[in-house]
Amino acid sequence: MTEWKAILAHQDEWSRGQSRRYRMSIEDGVTLYDDAPLWALRRSANRRRKAMHPGNEVTYLVDRNVNYTNVCTINCQFCSFYRPPGHEESYTQSIDEISARFAELEAIGGSRVLMQGGVHPELPIEWYENLISQLKLKHPTILLDCFSPIEIDGIADVTGLTTLEVLNRLKQAGVDGLPGGGAEMLVDEVRNDVSPKKHSAGDWMRIMQEAQSLGLTTSATNVIGFGETMEQRIAHMDFVRNSQDEAIEKWQNGFTSFISWPVQLEVNSFGKRNRGQNRIVLGVGASEYLRHVSISRLFLDNVEHIQASWPTMGLEVAQIALLGGADDIGSTMMEENVVSASGTTRVKVSAEELQNVIIRAGLKPRLRDSKYSLFETPPAGEELSELACPPPTQS
Ligand code: SF4
Repeated sequence: MTEWKAILAHQDEWSRGQSRRYRMSIEDGVTLYDDAPLWALRRSANRRRKAMHPGNEVTYLVDRNVNYTNVCTINCQFCSFYRPPGHEESYTQSIDEISARFAELEAIGGSRVLMQGGVHPELPIEWYENLISQLKLKHPTILLDCFSPIEIDGIADVTGLTTLEVLNRLKQAGVDGLPGGGAEMLVDEVRNDVSPKKHSAGDWMRIMQEAQSLGLTTSATNVIGFGETMEQRIAHMDFVRNSQDEAIEKWQNGFTSFISWPVQLEVNSFGKRNRGQNRIVLGVGASEYLRHVSISRLFLDNVEHIQASWPTMGLEVAQIALLGGADDIGSTMMEENVVSASGTTRVKVSAEELQNVIIRAGLKPRLRDSKYSLFETPPAGEELSELACPPPTQS
């Protein structure tokens, strides 16, 4: 049996309950990346999804994004969203502007706001505390996943607190969790190339672990297509998997999910840098993205949910990912300005569209919140707002 076949055979035996857990090594992951055909990876990953999530249910979330400021000092080369301080196109939204966006979400029965922006060099922690506490007061049913690790680092710098102290104060103000943004590739060699002013892979993970230790909700993301090696992609997953082991053991609170997508190269200096005669072929097409989803499902045996990314890949490819390892199709978003500034085409879908994508894959849609608590799911086609904030039925 060739090596990739043996690795997948072990994985399949485990998925079928015919053997004990067979944890893939880094070498196994690289072998699958290099040698296994896509159809075989997808078949094994689909088996694993069914084993981990019996009932063929695929979850989705009704939420919105709020990008409260585009002021940022980090200058990631793949980012077209940020503006340096003082730039004529820079903005920071007021509490009233942000609250109005929350009200739009409430009107359609949404349950979560994901709020993230740039690393603002001047806003003190009191600004964030005031924002969060007022939003929590005005919109008590909305879960708040706010400020990715690099923003937490920025607030700590401005305020002279540790990141743990910042997280603690934001939690007291009403933050429920952190967005998983900013992980990109958790390999410093790659990070130093594409975002040299961003904090290290270790800093990103430390802040996530601090959040987990406080009981906050977290997810792990992964951007591919920077020209990284397959070893580096698997190293990213291995870092997440090791941290997850530790977090579950210490705090029973690890990452809820793993979400990957390809770097967007349309409108940013990273994309331009790689055009021309000596152009390195960067970015990732549908086939490679689907391969990554399937390998992540098999490798990350301690992360419960794998999410398909419709904003970067489109609904059709996201639907195909649901039959190759993913068990969640993400959320309605309503608005997204960070990744979309670099070239995605859609930043908003309705709950009904997500339901239909799931149903047409032969699967069952299930409404969730950001903690993956399951809600009673409206029949496809029914306006969600008619069910206004349904209570969770199961965790
Ligand atoms: S990706 Fe985030 S940290 Fe990097 S430049 Fe853009 S807003 Fe700033």
